[in-house]
Amino acid sequence: MNFKKTTLKEIHDKLVSKEIKLTDLIKEVILKSKEEMKSNFLITLTEDEALRKANELENNIDANNVLTGIPFIHKDNISTKGILTTAGSKMLSNYTPSFDATIAEKFNEKNSILIGKAALDELSMGGTGLLSFNGEVRNPYDSNRIVGGSSSGSAYAVAKGIVPFATGGDTGDSIRKPASLSGVVGFKPTYGSISRYGAIPYAPSLDHLGFFTNNVEDQAYLCDATYGYDSKDFTSIDNKKEFVKNINQVSRRFKFGYIKQVEEIMPEELKEDYKKLYSILNDQGHEVLELEFNKKLLEAIPATYMMISFAEAVSTHANLDGIKFGVRVEGKDYMEIIKNSRTQGFGETVKRRFLIGSYQLKSENQDVLLAKSKKVRRLIVEELDKLYKQVDILILPPTTKPAPTVNEVYGFDVDQQEDGTKFIEDILILANFNGMPSITLPFVCKENMPIGINLNAKPKEDLEVLQAAKIIEKLILENFRQVGDLNE
Ligand code: GLN
Repeated sequence: MNFKKTTLKEIHDKLVSKEIKLTDLIKEVILKSKEEMKSNFLITLTEDEALRKANELENNIDANNVLTGIPFIHKDNISTKGILTTAGSKMLSNYTPSFDATIAEKFNEKNSILIGKAALDELSMGGTGLLSFNGEVRNPYDSNRIVGGSSSGSAYAVAKGIVPFATGGDTGDSIRKPASLSGVVGFKPTYGSISRYGAIPYAPSLDHLGFFTNNVEDQAYLCDATYGYDSKDFTSIDNKKEFVKNINQVSRRFKFGYIKQVEEIMPEELKEDYKKLYSILNDQGHEVLELEFNKKLLEAIPATYMMISFAEAVSTHANLDGIKFGVRVEGKDYMEIIKNSRTQGFGETVKRRFLIGSYQLKSENQDVLLAKSKKVRRLIVEELDKLYKQVDILILPPTTKPAPTVNEVYGFDVDQQEDGTKFIEDILILANFNGMPSITLPFVCKENMPIGINLNAKPKEDLEVLQAAKIIEKLILENFRQVGDLNE
């Protein structure tokens, strides 16, 4: 079955009418996953359990539950009871949780079928897909290029049509950027909407869970299934909205806006594509406004993100010491065990980030460095608040070029920015600073590679951003050329 061109609802209808047999479907997905193992997109294939569940559900498809029997994969930082959960790190390469993350529980309740656990840049730190301990995941359209990260295996799986949806995590842009580079839809809900209990964190004040799909409508089913207050996560909120029921109910006109200082540094050709879209929106009766954003604050995005996320990462990962769980490298006493385990268990990027993070956490540096970054974050959030007094939807470029080649990014981290315009590459982090809902969808095609567009709304306006995305998705399909289907 070609998931790239099918909605979850269409798969469901075929399962209900028995046009397709669930066990056949799951066998096909497992076969395809096995053929793809060489791409490193999966760390663990859960074949036996998937087949067992398919057999059990075969004659029991719930006609009122679109997610029954739907195959999917989890990013491997989501704890799954009895199933290896590594967070892409050698340090956790032997770790099997004894409990399910809340999001894993929710999909179990819906009887969706887990096919496996997807590769990610180690501990969600990175944006390339080259840093998972099991090997590099590369772009499904061109293996010389990156797929993006950190949710690399999830993006790959949906882009290749192996599964119709996958979970992901997003601390800076880890769902929304790989979605742009691999031509799929990637959504990060409002902070706290989906419980993060059981998701191995990167930086808790910025971490979100979300999804990759082939279309905007499918996101609505996943949101309905997973949103909700969870007392096990103290940042959790109740932000349920009846997404499926309402996603297509839009008669209103939207006020869209884009940031002038961002548009100014966009490549000329891509700027033309955005202008074309704006004029189509205008023709349809929507407004598109140009917005001002303090340039200095935009330029401060990468540094502010690094300061906050690296520092939080140090404290959240203090438990990865080879003593309590994870891979242990022996030593003469417990200090040496910790040192040896951490030295051998973590990759270079993680170690660099821990080093910089620890430096800021030293008491003499906290005020000058960390506290200052938090103030800058607050100023950025206030600037965003001002924008939302003028518009409903903020449009951002998730990427401005086709996926870079692997050689272009080897050894680079977010902090190695060459000049003051580079903030455009980290612009999506705005949504992690204020927690707003943010979605990337396929937009144009350059060098035969996909480039996405990103839409945002005020925190908690998740339905609004999905509705706007639905409108834009249709206009894009009618007016812009897309990359070819990889299955054809
Ligand atoms: N690319 C960003 C980084 O390297 C984002 C990571 C994320 O969202 N998990 O930190």
